[in-house]
Amino acid sequence: MTDTDTSATTAPALEALTSVEAHLAEILAGIRPLPPTELSLPEAEGLVLAQDVTATQPLPSFDNSAMDGYAVLAQDVAAASEQAPVTLPVVAEIAAGDTGAYAINPGTAIRIMTGAMLPRGAELVIPVEWTDAGTSRVSIHTKASPGHAVRRAGDDAQPGQLLVPAGTRLKPMHIAAIAAAGHGSVPVHPRPRVVVLSTGDELAEPGTPIIPGRIWDSNSFMIAAAAREAGCLAYRQAGIPDKPDEVLRTIEDQLIRADLLVTTGGVSMGGEHDVVKAALRQLGTLTFRKVAMQPGMPQGFGSIGAEKVPIITLPGNPVSAYVSFQIFVRPAIGALQADDGLGLPVVTAELTAPLRSPAGRRSFLRGMLEGGTITPLTGQGSHQVATLGRANALITVPEWVVQMQPGEAAEVLVLP
Ligand code: AMP
Ligand code: MG
Repeated sequence: MTDTDTSATTAPALEALTSVEAHLAEILAGIRPLPPTELSLPEAEGLVLAQDVTATQPLPSFDNSAMDGYAVLAQDVAAASEQAPVTLPVVAEIAAGDTGAYAINPGTAIRIMTGAMLPRGAELVIPVEWTDAGTSRVSIHTKASPGHAVRRAGDDAQPGQLLVPAGTRLKPMHIAAIAAAGHGSVPVHPRPRVVVLSTGDELAEPGTPIIPGRIWDSNSFMIAAAAREAGCLAYRQAGIPDKPDEVLRTIEDQLIRADLLVTTGGVSMGGEHDVVKAALRQLGTLTFRKVAMQPGMPQGFGSIGAEKVPIITLPGNPVSAYVSFQIFVRPAIGALQADDGLGLPVVTAELTAPLRSPAGRRSFLRGMLEGGTITPLTGQGSHQVATLGRANALITVPEWVVQMQPGEAAEVLVLP
């Protein structure tokens, strides 16, 4: 049996197929989050926070000016107007970063810059735009009430306040809040290291010549790229020959640098050439099964070595491997980081063309999502990697649906 079947009239397989959900749930049940480690902010970016980050001080930590202008008392500018500006002596100038202890006296103004500490006693800041911008004396033509253009200590966050909760995947805005609160490093789940292995005597490296009977390896590059896109470090170990001993030896060699192993090829139902299956069966900790999906029916997972490194074995056909990665491996990568949010976004879109799907299996058809419409692409074979290269979405057709018509609403996974 292969997973290349694209016939829409295929009857449900007689043997029991495992549902997509059940297979994914079993994979996830065997994965523990990587232990947290303290990393500097640049290193932590994109990773999942392992502990709440709170403010240790008020934010801002001191009263300061929101604008370039003049710190004054409200009573001294109460009479200011366009017709009758108020003039005050300018007795000092405070720049951002100036830590001097300034205080305001009635009847005077202090020139102050944005972010500079407010002088003791000052009630408000008159923006420079409301003045003649004088340096020894300033003429103010607009009044303001206490608190104007003043940023109060703690108006952004109070000490102890939660800034970024554990479980957040750190994006630039989170990094900003963490840095502004003075934390130079944070505990995060480390970037998972994924080792990608491709097997097959037919495989050649892209960039080298091939002869008929050989193909260029696309899976190992694709899966490594997909793993990186999902936030991992990815290592490729490509072109492993179809010999179970070599497959097993390579896998064991790679365990040292793997938090997750992903293989492609060698797990279909074709017997002696299914070397990954043959190699890993000896270990007894792997489950191989058929999943009720198309493409991607032959799937396997388990753990390996003393460290029980999780391993997921994907089918060899490139489209099958790609779809299987998005459906099973991406969430597994999330689980390594205690993040259950790595699944693909789901949207509903209107079909522009009819489609067919096998009974009893969930189809993931390559499509082009444009606005609110989805167009199934021509060439849905699981070897048709050129079609995959044009897709930006997967149309999910439920197990019990065998055809859909234009205008129907389809469930669509948006590809990253
Ligand atoms: P297998 O599961 O090993 O029987 O492979 C199924 C199909 O996928 C065959 O047509 C293989 O040539 C193809 N295939 C396997 N591995 C790769 C790879 N790394 N890159 C591209 N195609 C592959
Ligand atoms: Mg093979």
